[in-house]
Amino acid sequence: METTLVLLKPSCVQRGLIGEIINRFERRGLQITGMKMMQLDDEILKKHYSHLVDKPFFPSLAASMKTSPIVAMALTGVEAVQVVRGMTGFTNGRRADPGTIRGDYSVSNQQNIVHASDSPESAKTELERFFQPEEIYTYNHALQGYLYGVGEAN
Ligand code: UDP
Ligand code: MG
Repeated sequence: METTLVLLKPSCVQRGLIGEIINRFERRGLQITGMKMMQLDDEILKKHYSHLVDKPFFPSLAASMKTSPIVAMALTGVEAVQVVRGMTGFTNGRRADPGTIRGDYSVSNQQNIVHASDSPESAKTELERFFQPEEIYTYNHALQGYLYGVGEAN
Protein backbone atom coordinates (compact mmCIF):
# COMPACT_ATOMS: atom_id res chain seq x y z
CA MET A 1 0.00 0.00 0.00
CA GLU A 2 1.11 3.51 -0.78
CA THR A 3 -0.26 6.91 0.25
CA THR A 4 -0.14 10.02 -1.91
CA LEU A 5 -0.96 13.69 -1.42
CA VAL A 6 -3.67 15.45 -3.38
CA LEU A 7 -4.51 19.14 -3.06
CA LEU A 8 -7.86 20.37 -4.36
CA LYS A 9 -6.73 23.79 -5.51
CA PRO A 10 -8.70 27.06 -5.29
CA SER A 11 -9.77 26.45 -8.91
CA CYS A 12 -11.55 23.32 -7.63
CA VAL A 13 -12.90 24.81 -4.41
CA GLN A 14 -14.21 28.01 -6.02
CA ARG A 15 -15.84 26.23 -8.95
CA GLY A 16 -17.80 23.99 -6.61
CA LEU A 17 -16.04 20.83 -7.74
CA ILE A 18 -14.83 19.50 -4.37
CA GLY A 19 -17.48 16.77 -4.15
CA GLU A 20 -17.15 15.79 -7.79
CA ILE A 21 -13.39 15.33 -7.59
CA ILE A 22 -13.48 13.47 -4.26
CA ASN A 23 -16.15 11.23 -5.78
CA ARG A 24 -13.80 10.27 -8.62
CA PHE A 25 -11.10 9.15 -6.22
CA GLU A 26 -13.57 7.20 -4.07
CA ARG A 27 -15.17 5.52 -7.05
CA ARG A 28 -11.80 4.50 -8.45
CA GLY A 29 -11.21 2.60 -5.19
CA LEU A 30 -8.75 4.85 -3.41
CA GLN A 31 -9.14 5.05 0.34
CA ILE A 32 -9.30 8.51 1.90
CA THR A 33 -6.95 8.35 4.89
CA GLY A 34 -6.61 12.08 5.57
CA MET A 35 -8.58 15.19 4.61
CA LYS A 36 -8.75 18.80 5.76
CA MET A 37 -9.15 22.39 4.57
CA MET A 38 -6.12 24.67 4.81
CA GLN A 39 -5.24 28.26 3.94
CA LEU A 40 -1.80 28.13 2.31
CA ASP A 41 0.82 30.86 2.80
CA ASP A 42 4.09 31.81 1.08
CA GLU A 43 6.18 29.73 3.47
CA ILE A 44 4.53 26.41 2.59
CA LEU A 45 4.14 27.33 -1.10
CA LYS A 46 7.86 28.07 -1.49
CA LYS A 47 8.62 24.59 -0.15
CA HIS A 48 5.85 22.84 -2.05
CA TYR A 49 6.83 24.49 -5.34
CA SER A 50 10.58 24.69 -4.63
CA HIS A 51 11.28 23.29 -8.13
CA LEU A 52 9.46 26.30 -9.61
CA VAL A 53 10.44 29.28 -7.42
CA ASP A 54 12.72 30.71 -10.12
CA LYS A 55 10.14 30.43 -12.91
CA PRO A 56 8.49 33.64 -14.15
CA PHE A 57 5.04 32.20 -13.36
CA PHE A 58 5.83 31.42 -9.71
CA PRO A 59 4.38 34.69 -8.28
CA SER A 60 1.07 34.19 -10.09
CA LEU A 61 1.04 30.49 -9.15
CA ALA A 62 1.61 31.28 -5.48
CA ALA A 63 -1.03 34.02 -5.59
CA SER A 64 -3.56 31.68 -7.20
CA MET A 65 -2.96 29.05 -4.52
CA LYS A 66 -3.78 31.61 -1.77
CA THR A 67 -7.04 32.96 -3.17
CA SER A 68 -9.13 30.53 -1.09
CA PRO A 69 -8.61 27.58 1.25
CA ILE A 70 -7.59 24.34 -0.40
CA VAL A 71 -8.51 20.76 0.53
CA ALA A 72 -5.58 18.51 1.35
CA MET A 73 -6.16 14.77 0.98
CA ALA A 74 -4.16 11.64 1.72
CA LEU A 75 -5.21 8.82 -0.62
CA THR A 76 -4.14 5.24 -0.04
CA GLY A 77 -4.02 2.25 -2.38
CA VAL A 78 -1.68 -0.07 -4.22
CA GLU A 79 0.61 2.13 -6.36
CA ALA A 80 -1.53 5.11 -5.31
CA VAL A 81 0.99 7.69 -6.59
CA GLN A 82 0.85 6.35 -10.13
CA VAL A 83 -2.89 5.71 -10.06
CA VAL A 84 -3.64 9.26 -8.91
CA ARG A 85 -1.17 10.90 -11.32
CA GLY A 86 -2.84 8.97 -14.13
CA MET A 87 -6.24 10.28 -13.05
CA THR A 88 -4.87 13.84 -12.80
CA GLY A 89 -3.60 14.10 -16.37
CA PHE A 90 -1.11 16.39 -18.09
CA THR A 91 -0.30 19.67 -16.28
CA ASN A 92 -1.86 21.90 -18.93
CA GLY A 93 -5.61 21.23 -18.89
CA ARG A 94 -5.83 22.17 -22.57
CA ARG A 95 -3.55 19.26 -23.42
CA ALA A 96 -4.77 16.78 -20.82
CA ASP A 97 -6.63 13.74 -22.10
CA PRO A 98 -10.41 13.69 -21.74
CA GLY A 99 -11.24 11.30 -18.91
CA THR A 100 -8.55 12.76 -16.68
CA ILE A 101 -9.51 15.34 -14.05
CA ARG A 102 -7.64 18.15 -15.79
CA GLY A 103 -8.85 16.99 -19.20
CA ASP A 104 -12.46 17.06 -18.01
CA TYR A 105 -12.49 20.18 -15.82
CA SER A 106 -9.65 22.51 -16.85
CA VAL A 107 -8.61 24.62 -19.85
CA SER A 108 -5.66 26.14 -18.01
CA ASN A 109 -1.97 25.51 -17.48
CA GLN A 110 -2.21 27.02 -13.96
CA GLN A 111 -5.81 26.76 -12.74
CA ASN A 112 -5.72 23.00 -13.15
CA ILE A 113 -7.92 21.83 -10.25
CA VAL A 114 -5.60 19.40 -8.46
CA HIS A 115 -2.07 18.78 -7.28
CA ALA A 116 -0.88 15.18 -7.01
CA SER A 117 2.51 13.91 -5.80
CA ASP A 118 4.70 12.74 -8.69
CA SER A 119 6.75 9.96 -7.01
CA PRO A 120 6.69 7.87 -3.82
CA GLU A 121 9.58 9.99 -2.49
CA SER A 122 7.80 13.29 -3.07
CA ALA A 123 4.56 11.81 -1.68
CA LYS A 124 6.33 11.07 1.61
CA THR A 125 7.85 14.58 1.83
CA GLU A 126 4.61 16.28 0.80
CA LEU A 127 2.42 14.27 3.21
CA GLU A 128 4.75 15.28 6.05
CA ARG A 129 4.52 18.90 4.91
CA PHE A 130 0.72 19.07 4.84
CA PHE A 131 -0.33 16.60 7.58
CA GLN A 132 0.58 15.86 11.16
CA PRO A 133 1.15 12.10 11.64
CA GLU A 134 -2.05 11.77 13.72
CA GLU A 135 -4.12 13.34 10.92
CA ILE A 136 -3.52 10.32 8.69
CA TYR A 137 -5.65 7.32 9.65
CA THR A 138 -5.08 3.61 9.18
CA TYR A 139 -8.36 1.70 9.04
CA ASN A 140 -9.77 -1.36 7.35
CA HIS A 141 -11.37 -0.77 3.99
CA ALA A 142 -14.62 -2.76 4.10
CA LEU A 143 -14.50 -3.50 0.36
CA GLN A 144 -10.83 -4.44 0.20
CA GLY A 145 -11.58 -7.97 -1.05
CA TYR A 146 -13.53 -6.51 -3.96
CA LEU A 147 -11.06 -3.78 -4.82
CA TYR A 148 -8.05 -6.09 -5.17
CA GLY A 149 -7.49 -9.71 -6.04
CA VAL A 150 -5.85 -12.23 -3.74
CA GLY A 151 -2.25 -11.26 -2.97
CA GLU A 152 -2.44 -7.97 -4.85
CA ALA A 153 -2.69 -5.64 -1.88
CA ASN A 154 0.00 -7.05 0.43
N1 UDP B 1 2.25 25.86 -13.56
C1 UDP B 1 2.02 27.10 -14.14
N2 UDP B 1 2.61 27.38 -15.36
C2 UDP B 1 3.40 26.49 -16.00
C3 UDP B 1 3.66 25.23 -15.40
C4 UDP B 1 3.06 24.94 -14.19
O1 UDP B 1 1.31 27.92 -13.57
O2 UDP B 1 3.91 26.79 -17.09
C5 UDP B 1 1.61 25.53 -12.27
C6 UDP B 1 0.43 24.55 -12.43
O3 UDP B 1 -0.60 24.95 -11.54
C7 UDP B 1 1.06 23.25 -12.01
C8 UDP B 1 2.03 23.70 -10.92
O4 UDP B 1 2.56 24.92 -11.42
O5 UDP B 1 0.09 22.31 -11.55
C9 UDP B 1 3.15 22.73 -10.62
O6 UDP B 1 3.87 22.46 -11.79
P1 UDP B 1 4.40 21.01 -12.13
O7 UDP B 1 5.33 21.14 -13.28
O8 UDP B 1 4.92 20.37 -10.87
O9 UDP B 1 3.09 20.27 -12.67
P2 UDP B 1 2.11 19.18 -12.03
O10 UDP B 1 2.98 18.22 -11.23
O11 UDP B 1 1.12 19.93 -11.17
O12 UDP B 1 1.45 18.52 -13.20
MG1 MG C 1 4.42 18.64 -9.80
